Amino acid sequence: MPGGVSSPVRAFGSVRGDPPFAARGSAARIFDVDGCEYLDLLGSWGPLILGHAHPAVVEAVVRAARDGLSFGATCRAEVELAEQVLARFPFAGKLRFVSTGTEAVMSAIRLARGFTRRERILKFSGCYHGHSDSLLVKAGSGLATSGVATSAGVPAPLAALTDVLPLDDEAAVEELFARRGKEIAVVVVEPLPANAGLLIQREEFLRTLRRLTREHGALLVFDEVISGFRVAPGGMAQKLGIEPDIVTLGKILGGGMPVGAYLARDEIMQHVAPLGPVYQAGTLSGNPVAMAAGIATLRELERPGVYEMLESLGALFEARIARSLEQSGIPHALSRVGSVLGLWLQAPPAPRAFEKIDTSAAERYARLHPLLLAEGVWMAPSYFEVAFVSLAHTPADVELFGQRLDRALAKLQSTVP
Ligand SMILES: *Cc1c(COP(=O)(O)O)cnc(C)c1O
Repeated sequence: MPGGVSSPVRAFGSVRGDPPFAARGSAARIFDVDGCEYLDLLGSWGPLILGHAHPAVVEAVVRAARDGLSFGATCRAEVELAEQVLARFPFAGKLRFVSTGTEAVMSAIRLARGFTRRERILKFSGCYHGHSDSLLVKAGSGLATSGVATSAGVPAPLAALTDVLPLDDEAAVEELFARRGKEIAVVVVEPLPANAGLLIQREEFLRTLRRLTREHGALLVFDEVISGFRVAPGGMAQKLGIEPDIVTLGKILGGGMPVGAYLARDEIMQHVAPLGPVYQAGTLSGNPVAMAAGIATLRELERPGVYEMLESLGALFEARIARSLEQSGIPHALSRVGSVLGLWLQAPPAPRAFEKIDTSAAERYARLHPLLLAEGVWMAPSYFEVAFVSLAHTPADVELFGQRLDRALAKLQSTVP
């Protein structure tokens, strides 16, 4: 395996030290093969909103597995999960299951291009939408908005069809639409950008995207692979009351198993094969075991008070982290929506655009991370990520975490060059 990993950020390229070899997870804890225990604030990068190996999810998976691992035919569990999802996103009439968030967004982009018969994409710097060719693109230099590939192997002519603008900047979007609004098929955005720290957007910015796409005949994709089921049952679309044209889902949807989906109103979904000309398929899509994990997870999230619980746990973590950082004297700003926490090691205000991130703080985080790991705290091995609180966390975990953070920060201060 290149770098010893199946996904690059796991390789600790951005921090010091060696990655632990995961052996087992239970509720809010991970145990490595050396028997070390960690309090987990990463939750497998987002899916584990119920914590590790939740009994109801494990039970559902075991039961489904006994009946067969894959059919390549429609099964009852797909219908059940589809109904559960569509009930949470009432603007949508149909959905298609895929196996990853990458596939969901890649397919949503193809659908938007097929539906509008246009080719250009607008995305925003700091948002991540998976690793499909058209989306591994950053802004060109100078005033050029046309993108350049961030990965070798992405054809330049394809990257050039993607425009990249800063978040939090309505004027830039207005200007682009005035210039080439008729060519833009789709605007894709994380309504809660959580892949370069947590860059909370002003509602007005997202409403401007909604208005401009409508005015110019482009589609608006909310990539809710992280925020879907996390900030509210119906994601940011529900939380803000903004109706996008397509929503992409992943992570929590599979409850730890590989599931993604894209959904839209019927008029748009009619274009997906076999109903329409936009081709998209998957041998293991709608896999019955993965569907069972998703159904069980969403069922747990239907319990009354769940989102209030996530909010109050998130607030506890935020307050405790703020206390530690204040004591340490390290400049900091925290951003949080419910159970998603962004930790900025720079002076407030918390940034809302990638360009406002003080990237020199990444070096401080790179030195803090191994100290946290040694104390038994499992957080993302990169500054440009977020922390996820789960329903398996307890107020006692918050205090335990706080004490470990205090010790790690004290060591960091004592080793400042
Ligand atoms: C994780 C993520 C993806 C990609 O999902 P994978 O399952 O890793 O392919 C896409 N969009 C967003 C917003 C994500 O956070």
